[in-house]
Amino acid sequence: MTATAVSVKTGSPKPPEFESNDCDELQKRNEEQREDLKKKLGDKEKAGTIRADEQVALQKARGGGTTFSSAKINVGIGAGKQLSGVATACSSGKAFEQSPGGVVQGGSYAQQSGDESVLCDKADFKHAPPAGDTPGAHGEAKLLNEITNLAKKAGGQLAGGSMLVNVDWRYDLKSGTYQSKMPCRHCFRALCAATRCGIEIWFCDADKEPKKMPANCDSDKPDASGETPYSRLNESLDKTKAQGVRYSQGARQLSSAVL
Ligand SMILES: [Zn+2]
Repeated sequence: MTATAVSVKTGSPKPPEFESNDCDELQKRNEEQREDLKKKLGDKEKAGTIRADEQVALQKARGGGTTFSSAKINVGIGAGKQLSGVATACSSGKAFEQSPGGVVQGGSYAQQSGDESVLCDKADFKHAPPAGDTPGAHGEAKLLNEITNLAKKAGGQLAGGSMLVNVDWRYDLKSGTYQSKMPCRHCFRALCAATRCGIEIWFCDADKEPKKMPANCDSDKPDASGETPYSRLNESLDKTKAQGVRYSQGARQLSSAVL
């Protein structure tokens, strides 16, 4: 499997028809690439050749602090063409350094740092500038940067279609390492902006079922029950039929942080 298994084809994207194992396949890609990063940096650690920045990345990949995101992409780019395929991205640049064939680069530094817009003209979107970390270099942001550039390279821009995103976000709290299917607030805004290009955004939930981006995703206003589109998505993605709310406690605690 390669990271940029996304190619330009003729024809317009159809409404999404997900296969029952799509979320499973995307999760496998996330796990394979995480294991690959741990193995490659782990080998350097054993050999005593690991750099200090790689050691930090290895620590995060083993515990929390690194997100892998994979997506099934079927988006229009105008002129009767579409991008179609799957791609994986990682919030750590070390993953691309170690496996350029396994994960996407995810755009230029100008795009990642919010100096250059991404998506389509209608979206009018730039990532937030770096503050502690670089939100435009998160996993889901990198997937969006990548398809922006693939569309540009083919002489078009993003228009219509769908994207099914499986997020594997791991983070540490005092009580341990947690896992969430949620994009952070920044990536949520970026994925919401992609809907302005006519792209339907879907997420894989903890039961590996596709769930659509909530309506009015660009609003932060709580409704009568105090819920926002972001908190509603959290409830729907991180709750499993068998175990109830598995991860929401941690995700909610962290939901105001840009991670
Ligand atoms: Zn993010």
